[in-house]
Amino acid sequence: MTRLIFLGPPGAGKGTQAQILSQRCEVPHISTGDILRAAVKAKTELGQKADGYMSAGELVPNDLMLGLIRERLGQADTANGWLLDGFPRNVEQAEFLDRLLTEIEQTCEFVINLEVPDEELVARMLERGRKDDEESVIRNRLEVYREQTEPLIDFYQGRQLLRSVDGNQDLDTVTQVLQTIVKQDPEATPEVEPDIKSEAKP
Ligand code: ADP
Repeated sequence: MTRLIFLGPPGAGKGTQAQILSQRCEVPHISTGDILRAAVKAKTELGQKADGYMSAGELVPNDLMLGLIRERLGQADTANGWLLDGFPRNVEQAEFLDRLLTEIEQTCEFVINLEVPDEELVARMLERGRKDDEESVIRNRLEVYREQTEPLIDFYQGRQLLRSVDGNQDLDTVTQVLQTIVKQDPEATPEVEPDIKSEAKP
C-alpha cells in the first residue's frame, strides 16, 4: 500500500517525482495544484474563486480545499493508495487530513520532504514559466511556503512520518532515493541511509 504526502517548497520537484512514482506504484497522483488549474481552465465555480489567489501566489482558502480533498480521497481509484502533492499546505489542512484519514480508516505511510535551496527553486520555476511563475509571484509563494507550509515539517516529524530527501540532485537520483523509501516498511525502525536523512527521531 503506497500512501505518501509530498511536502516541500514550490519548484522542489514534487509534481515531477510524484508523477513518476504514481506510474511505478500504480496509484493516483493527486495534485491539488493540477486540480485547481483544471478548474480555472474550465471556469467552474471553484476555478473562478481560486483564480485570483493562485495568480497572486496565495493559498486558496481552506473552505474550498477541504471539501475538494475529501471528495477526491473518496473516489474509487484511491483504494490501493495515493500520492498527495500540494496538500496539506498549512496546519489546518494537515489536521483536517488527519481526521479524514482516521474517518476513512487509512494511514499515510510517509511524508516526503524534498529539500532544495531557494535560489535553485527560483531558477527552476522561472524556467518552467507557468502562469504563476513570474518572479514577484514566485517570491510570494516561497514566503507563503515558509510561513504556512514549513511548520508541517515539525508536525510530521512529531508523528515520525517525515523523510527528508535532497531534491537538489538529478531527477533520476531523486527518484531512486524515493523508491527505496517507498519500499521501506513504515512499521519498522527507520534506517539511516547515506543519501537519506531520516528525521524520524528529532
Ligand atoms: P507549486 O508546488 O509550484 O507551488 P502547485 O501546483 O502545488 O505549485 O500549486 C499552485 C497554486 O495552487 C498554489 O500557489 C496555491 O495558490 C494553489 N494551491 C494548491 N494546493 C493548495 C492547497 N492545498 N491549499 C491552498 N492552495 C493550494
